[in-house]
Amino acid sequence: MIFTDTHTHLYADAFEDDRTAMIERALEQKVKRFFIPAIDSETTQAMYDLENKFPEHMFLMMGLHPTSVSETVDQELKHVEEELAKRRFYAVGEIGIDLYWDQSFFEAQRKAFKHQIQLAKKYNLPIVIHCREAFDEVFDVLEEEKGDDLYGIFHCFTGTKAQAEQAISYNMKLGIGGVATFKNGKIDQFLSEIDLKHIVLETDAPYLAPKPYRGKRNESVYVIKVAEKLSELYGVSLEEIAKQTTQNSRDVFGI
Ligand SMILES: [Zn+2]
Repeated sequence: MIFTDTHTHLYADAFEDDRTAMIERALEQKVKRFFIPAIDSETTQAMYDLENKFPEHMFLMMGLHPTSVSETVDQELKHVEEELAKRRFYAVGEIGIDLYWDQSFFEAQRKAFKHQIQLAKKYNLPIVIHCREAFDEVFDVLEEEKGDDLYGIFHCFTGTKAQAEQAISYNMKLGIGGVATFKNGKIDQFLSEIDLKHIVLETDAPYLAPKPYRGKRNESVYVIKVAEKLSELYGVSLEEIAKQTTQNSRDVFGI
């Protein structure tokens, strides 16, 4: 049995003091596969360093995060294009629209999202979507881009059952993390009605730690807490959750 954390920012400053020990803690508990989303050009080198240190366990994405879309968007997108042309990545991510922090770059976020979806199609890669306070806006873009060549993960999914079904209709798996363990997280109320084949596990570490670590620094080993919650919700063994969600991650990322 192995677990796959499909979304973890292991290069984050929050891990500066104990990064290696933290990753080894996860490996010991059978969390063996880590998919690493990009933020912007400032995180690229740190991702390569992680990959050099744990080459069998780290799988890198390339992309421009919506909260990093600002006046520099053109040069940041150029960086994404150059890196994608240079070597193999496993997804274009994380990309999307975030209207929670700042709405002033909405149009630029929308264009960057659309442009990066087209890059993913060019390289036959999945996308990993970040969506905050922007379901309608994200779905509008997916509606324009939908097709057999559009697929990926709706990361940190926290919507309604109808939104879950809509995301799945665009060939998206739902990235389920700590929010599923929260008392007021809401998705626990309908998740078991969504076929497990559409679900992947994630932590979004260092953010969004699951119960009983809510509010603290999140780590990849806590993906097991999310798996335990799914085991309870779906009424299947932890082993079955680990197996099916890891298989789903293979189906998306091709590894
Ligand atoms: Zn993230």
